[in-house]
Amino acid sequence: MSQVNETYDVVIAGGGAGGVGAAIGAAQAGARVALVEKYGFLGGAATNAQVLAYCGFYHQGDKPIQAVAGAGEQLLTEMRKLGVDCAPYHSPTTSNWIVLLDPERLKVALDRLLAAHGVDVMLHARVAAAERTGDAIERVTVAAMDGRFNLTARSFVDASGDANLALVAGVPMRVGDGEGRLQAYTMPLRIGGLAPDTKIDRVQVCKAVEIYNSKSPYPIHRTDGGIYTRVPSSSDFWWLVIDRDMPDLSWQSFTKAEQSAREMGLLLVDILRETLPGFENAWMAQTGPQIGVRETRHPEARYEIRHDDVVSGKLHAHGVARAAWPIELHSQAGKPIYEHVGGAGYYHIPLEALQARGLNNLWYAGRVIGADPLAYGSTRVMGTAFATGEAAGVAAALTAKQGTAPEAETVRAVLQAHGALI
Ligand SMILES: Cc1cc2nc3c(=O)[nH]c(=O)nc-3n(C[C@H](O)[C@H](O)[C@H](O)COP(=O)(O)OP(=O)(O)OC[C@H]3O[C@@H](n4cnc5c(N)ncnc54)[C@H](O)[C@@H]3O)c2cc1C
Repeated sequence: MSQVNETYDVVIAGGGAGGVGAAIGAAQAGARVALVEKYGFLGGAATNAQVLAYCGFYHQGDKPIQAVAGAGEQLLTEMRKLGVDCAPYHSPTTSNWIVLLDPERLKVALDRLLAAHGVDVMLHARVAAAERTGDAIERVTVAAMDGRFNLTARSFVDASGDANLALVAGVPMRVGDGEGRLQAYTMPLRIGGLAPDTKIDRVQVCKAVEIYNSKSPYPIHRTDGGIYTRVPSSSDFWWLVIDRDMPDLSWQSFTKAEQSAREMGLLLVDILRETLPGFENAWMAQTGPQIGVRETRHPEARYEIRHDDVVSGKLHAHGVARAAWPIELHSQAGKPIYEHVGGAGYYHIPLEALQARGLNNLWYAGRVIGADPLAYGSTRVMGTAFATGEAAGVAAALTAKQGTAPEAETVRAVLQAHGALI
């Protein structure tokens, strides 16, 4: 086995927006950082499930007011260097401001950014177990291609989306909304072969879905045609229209969702080819790589952001990040529901929402942070995940340095010194 057992200040599980934010935050606060990612690339849902738009960087409204800067802004700068526009785009479907992504250039931008911060990135490696003594995690076991090894650290960040580190560390958690109901999962489609000047007409798209529904045993519930756009720098058509209800987190349900969604995608492309002008030579360039997972587990945090915090735009004395995306619920496949952020157009994420209950050296980032089932519809987006990640990374670095959890004020001062908005 070529791996050695190593010691770090901070170990991060997961390399999505939350994990990358955490790695930058911790490294900038002076920590020696390892980031462990089970795929062969960084980016989380943006690259493993074609979620090709960053939400949460801007407030909702007529003008794009920035809510997230710091680590997230560093990434946008890195992408601009690679020729990605990154200008805020006003979505005609949702009236929100988003940043459109090119997934391949995103992967490279993330690699370069973490290398520049001196982070040890471990790809094709999965946090598989944790050892704890009382109220602290001592080390994690990583399962990599050539076997298992241990990473010891003074502080840890769970940025796995699915709370996999908290799970193996024994933190109590709820699944979905607490009654076991999960937000719908979505299989993203990337369709190539369109004529470059193709104008896409939503009425015709809806008609294609109607034809599809008359032929398939797996209905599409998004009869409004779903969400679609062109992939930046290509004429490919990117489409979120295939939702799957997930009854539970069993491998059986995942297998069924993945396999049925792929069947649905192929039939849909056949129908688009036959019915939509400009799609005559269309082909399925890519599904996934995996189905888009909106929700799994929520480990207990020391504060749970509530629905009321979001709709009132609540500001906290212990705030360490801003969140500006509306509540977007996919409780029923095909029927998203939105609710706006109140107050100044953003609310605060308090430090305690990033802190594991019962463990003093475990911090949460991205969609793992404490939030009730409604607030989660807002906190989970990737722009916000960069901000909660950066704050968790700073908190973890300070925990490693001083041996105890830091005060919110200290975390905020470090974040602001590095350009974060709070
Ligand atoms: C269909 C769909 C559409 C969405 N639309 C948008 C949108 O348009 N814009 C937006 O901003 N958000 C959107 N979201 C939400 C958003 O994608 C997620 O909430 C967001 O990616 C959360 O970021 P994260 O870093 O917390 O988690 P993730 O992006 O899920 O990243 C977690 C990472 O951890 C890794 N990991 C997991 N377990 C382990 C382990 N044990 N060891 C090592 N690595 C591990 C995973 O491989 C992954 O890379 C959408 C989600 C879905 C499913």
